[in-house]
Amino acid sequence: MALVNENFLRLPGSYLFAEIAQRVSAYRSAHPDRPVISLGIGDVTRPLAPAVIKALQDATLEMASEKTMRGYAPYYGYDFLIEAIVKNDFHARRIPIDAGEVFVSDGAKSDTGNIGDILGAGNTVAVTDPVYPVYVDTSVIAGRAGTLTDGQWSGIEYLPCTAENGFVPELPKKHADVVYLCYPNNPTGTTLTRKELKKWVDYAVENRVLLLYDAAYEAFITEKDVPHSIFEIEGATKVAIEFRSFSKTAGFTGVRCGYTVIPHELKAYANDGSEVSPNELWKRRQSTKFNGTAYIVQRAAEAVYSSEGKQQIRETIDFYMENAKIIRTGLEKAGMKAFGGVNAPYIWLQTPDGKSSWEYFDYLLNELQIVTTPGSGFGKSGEGFVRLTAFGKREETVEAVERIVRSA
Ligand SMILES: *Cc1c(COP(=O)(O)O)cnc(C)c1O
Repeated sequence: MALVNENFLRLPGSYLFAEIAQRVSAYRSAHPDRPVISLGIGDVTRPLAPAVIKALQDATLEMASEKTMRGYAPYYGYDFLIEAIVKNDFHARRIPIDAGEVFVSDGAKSDTGNIGDILGAGNTVAVTDPVYPVYVDTSVIAGRAGTLTDGQWSGIEYLPCTAENGFVPELPKKHADVVYLCYPNNPTGTTLTRKELKKWVDYAVENRVLLLYDAAYEAFITEKDVPHSIFEIEGATKVAIEFRSFSKTAGFTGVRCGYTVIPHELKAYANDGSEVSPNELWKRRQSTKFNGTAYIVQRAAEAVYSSEGKQQIRETIDFYMENAKIIRTGLEKAGMKAFGGVNAPYIWLQTPDGKSSWEYFDYLLNELQIVTTPGSGFGKSGEGFVRLTAFGKREETVEAVERIVRSA
């Protein structure tokens, strides 16, 4: 008799996006004449950069010839891509990360989910609230979350990020072994300054805490005092793992490439207290369970760092950030409380008149034909907010903001 991993049975159904899709489709069939604008999706819409397309085409042709075809890629990534990553994302910012600390993968969702493989089941986990659900659900699957009451897991410490604290989480009150941080943040679109992140690094150093730092939105940062990498902070190479993705940076959501940085200096601990290198464990994990990212995809990612690639990608990000500005300033002018949207493609909008997230979601859909994401779907502290994304078409973004402003 094959037994299942019981932890899967504890997971509630992935309810948020299914519920949104269901409500939108019900509205559409009842009102086929009323076009709905979506500012709900967390997916890019602009095409890949021409430099990336060229690299994909060239690499595909290499695969067509016996002389140049490639089989299995190296477990941790091709040197050409790792070198481009190290040079552009780290050395250009004077961050001393070396090639042996970079692991190329098929994306940050896999890596933030899989990293739990190398961590003990007994670790206490802390997450910000609201939160990217992957960190919580994979902790549940690994048996680290305890039981679910009132939408929160007994074994997870939730760190509220609210308008009152400026969306800056306080350090855990109970002891945590592992803390997930995502900055710039999905869903709130807010950030930590260098000084605020330093507080986390110092806390982690003092308490032997591991920080799992998701920097998937790093490319959207516009302000100077917001760190692009946790490794800009002194001491972080001793306590942090960083996750990066080409998904939002370069529109790779359908191409699939990301990478994880695990410094050699980082230490975690065996039950007997002896030091273990997570870099070594991750090598073992990847070489056992992962057979490398496709050659053509790694060539495409390399093209992101070419001079044409950089410029083309900058234009696309600027386009999205102009959408973000249109949304944020439009809503603020209408007297609404909107956060984020300066260093991230997300705007976190406080619902008016104390409406719940779902009440305001329904109002926007039914009265204004605009789709958002209810903040409560990301955690308790998301209640009273909806998330709007800057990934939409320009005319639709402008139109949606005008509708909200007119009705406010
Ligand atoms: C989109 C996103 C990612 C990227 O995931 P990929 O698997 O690389 O596409 C990672 N973390 C967060 C918080 C995200 O929103």
